[in-house]
Amino acid sequence: VVTKQHIVSWLQELATELKENREYLTKLDSDIGDADHGLNMNRGFEKVMEKLPMYENKCLGTIFKQTGMTLLSSVGGASGPLYGTFFLKAATSLNGKEEASIQELIAAMDDGVGGIVSRGRTKPEDKTMCDVWWPTMEAMHHAADHDKDLSEVIDLALHTAEEAMRATIPMQARKGRASYLGERSIGHQDPGATSSMLMIKALKKTLA
Ligand code: ADP
Ligand code: MG
Ligand code: MG
Repeated sequence: VVTKQHIVSWLQELATELKENREYLTKLDSDIGDADHGLNMNRGFEKVMEKLPMYENKCLGTIFKQTGMTLLSSVGGASGPLYGTFFLKAATSLNGKEEASIQELIAAMDDGVGGIVSRGRTKPEDKTMCDVWWPTMEAMHHAADHDKDLSEVIDLALHTAEEAMRATIPMQARKGRASYLGERSIGHQDPGATSSMLMIKALKKTLA
C-alpha cells in the first residue's frame, strides 16, 4: 500500500529534484520558451514545502488538495495552473483516505492527468507534459493489471517517462509558448515533459 508517509515523502523528493534541476529546466525553457520553467517549479514547491507541515497529518485527499491550491496561487505561467489542477483532481478520490492501494493511486493520477488535459486542451504529440503523462499512465496500468508489485510498477513508469520525455525532442510544439516558434521548436526537449518525468523519478525514490 501507499501510505501517507509515502505521499509526503513524494512531495519532498519532488521538491528536492526540482531544486537540483532548476538550472536544467530553465535552460530547456530558454531554448523554446521564456527561460522560467525551473524558477516557476522551484518557487511553487518551495511554497508547498513551507506549508506542508500544516496539513501533513490530514488525509491523502487534503494533502493533494492543499498542494494543488498552493501551486495554483504561487506558480505563474502555464505550468502552475496545470500542475495545480493535477493535484486538485487527484485529491478527489483520495478524500478521507489514510492510505491507498497502487490501483487507487493510479486512479487518482489518472484523474489528475485528465485535469491537465482538459485545462490545457492537449492532443498527443503537441510537445507538452501530456506526452509524458499519457504513456506513463498507460505503462502503470499495464504493470498493475499484470499484478506487478509496487516497485516494478514504478520502475516501468520511470523507464517509460524517460523515453517519452526524450520523444518530445523531434516534435513540433502546438501548445504553449513553444508553439510560437513553429518548426524551430523541433530538436529541443520539452521543459514540462522533463519536470513531469522528475515527478515519476521522485515517486520511484519514495516507493522503490
Ligand atoms: P510558461 O510557458 O507560461 O512560461 P512554464 O515555462 O512554467 O510556463 O511551462 C512550460 C511548459 O508547460 C511547457 O514545456 C509544456 O510542457 C507545458 N504546457 C504549456 N502549455 C500547455 C498546455 N496547453 N497543455 C499542457 N502542457 C502545456
Ligand atoms: Mg516558461
Ligand atoms: Mg513564463
